[in-house]
Amino acid sequence: MISLGIEGTAWSLSIGVVDEKEVLLIENDPYIPKEGGIHPREAAQHHSERIGKLVKSVFSKIEPDKIDVVSFSQGPGMGPCLRIVATAARVLSLKLKKPLVGVNHCLAHLEVGRWKTGAKNPVTLYVSGGNSQVIARRGKRYRVFGETLDIGIGNALDKLARHMGLKHPGGPKIEKLARNGKRYYELPYVVKGMDFSFSGMVTAAQKLYDRGVSKEDVAFSFQETAFAMLAEVSERAMAYLDRDELLLVGGVGANSRLKEMLEVMCKDRNARFYSPPTELMGDNGAMIAYLALLMFKHGYVTKLKDSTVKPDFRIEDVDVNWD
Ligand code: AMP
Ligand code: MG
Repeated sequence: MISLGIEGTAWSLSIGVVDEKEVLLIENDPYIPKEGGIHPREAAQHHSERIGKLVKSVFSKIEPDKIDVVSFSQGPGMGPCLRIVATAARVLSLKLKKPLVGVNHCLAHLEVGRWKTGAKNPVTLYVSGGNSQVIARRGKRYRVFGETLDIGIGNALDKLARHMGLKHPGGPKIEKLARNGKRYYELPYVVKGMDFSFSGMVTAAQKLYDRGVSKEDVAFSFQETAFAMLAEVSERAMAYLDRDELLLVGGVGANSRLKEMLEVMCKDRNARFYSPPTELMGDNGAMIAYLALLMFKHGYVTKLKDSTVKPDFRIEDVDVNWD
């Protein structure tokens, strides 16, 4: 069985094709803002201008007849972007006469991570631009045990980078700068129960930079503080739930310092640490295609009337009837 998935919740416009065993292809045409952060209307405009070409390119590599399921990111994400992708998926589904499956974007990150790493019942740390959550499965649902109270860690890194004159996306640039940081400056460490918050930290780090602290030291201090918060909450979830696996997913999961800190924590607890290959970490069409394949095999189909986008779609809202 072959599934085609379209991702377009924010910056990434991506189509992936997977079968039960592997990712067959991923084609990307990302929106990169000329200045500032992601503007929802501009990103949607980009997606609508490029989606036709991207579909053509995919179908020059794989026969349209071979596709068994057409899927798309139904949410959470930016409304204008989601609508473009949903429309494209509906058209494809009708044209190819194949079933449509709308999927939860966060669950797609998580399930593609489990698929590619072999993690069975992990605590998942999902860190991306707009989202930061600690998730674990209880019975037929995934539950969010802790999450950001304001912005996602990716947005926080991007905001800080922008303030220091670096272009979007800032996360990888902060990572590079941080490697040459020499001095740690204390920043607000905000963990409340199982939740955490980044926006106060961003303001404090921006002030450090305005005071003349080097980019390297600001980046280093920010990463050390923010990633320690994420490691603390992930560890607490593992302890409470008695889990010995941690899975890292989402675009910020590409960061090697974050991976290193989580690896150390897992080693201390005799737990295993997993992270999928980098191309499947950030938003991509293959994760959508994979989750749709899994759902389709377990009886899920999205009727046209139910295919409206869900900008606030929560992972807890999905009934999970697979292992
Ligand atoms: P996603 O929304 O899952 O596609 O992730 C996008 C976010 O990941 C953006 O905020 C990027 O700045 C961030 N990101 C990508 N690579 C890295 C990295 N190496 N370190 C930190 N953040 C990163
Ligand atoms: Mg994402």
